[in-house]
Amino acid sequence: MGVTLRAIGRGLALRCPNCARAPLFTGFITPARRCPACGVRHMRERGEWLGSTETTLILSLPFAALAWLVLGAVPGLTRDARFALTFVVFALAFPFVYRHVRGAWLGLMRAWEDGAEGAGEPSGLEWEGLAEDQAERERRQAERAATRRRNE
Ligand SMILES: [Zn+2]
Repeated sequence: MGVTLRAIGRGLALRCPNCARAPLFTGFITPARRCPACGVRHMRERGEWLGSTETTLILSLPFAALAWLVLGAVPGLTRDARFALTFVVFALAFPFVYRHVRGAWLGLMRAWEDGAEGAGEPSGLEWEGLAEDQAERERRQAERAATRRRNE
């Protein structure tokens, strides 16, 4: 549990969950594929971020709720304007919340996958390799089908 919490904490702080020596993101919301300090792969599987988006949605709602309450105290503000401004606050909060949620999410994923021993690192490169194999298989199948049609 200590390892998991440490990895989540490092991710939440936008640092590599494995070593904390390098930043997790290369851009504002673009995570580094690999940690430049320890070499651990961050991006391993397609779709492993899915839950982080939903979590971000939920965690961004309090910002919208707060904006709604604060804007309610502004005299002369129409309900439509209040709603529009609340949405703007929500939209602005979302990417900031997303970075930290995604970092924490990544920490959780790495802790689950690697375990306390740091063993067994399923690799994104392996996944990419499988995707390439699949594309190659499909290309050959299409070629064979085309050859068969020509020979008939
Ligand atoms: Zn690292």
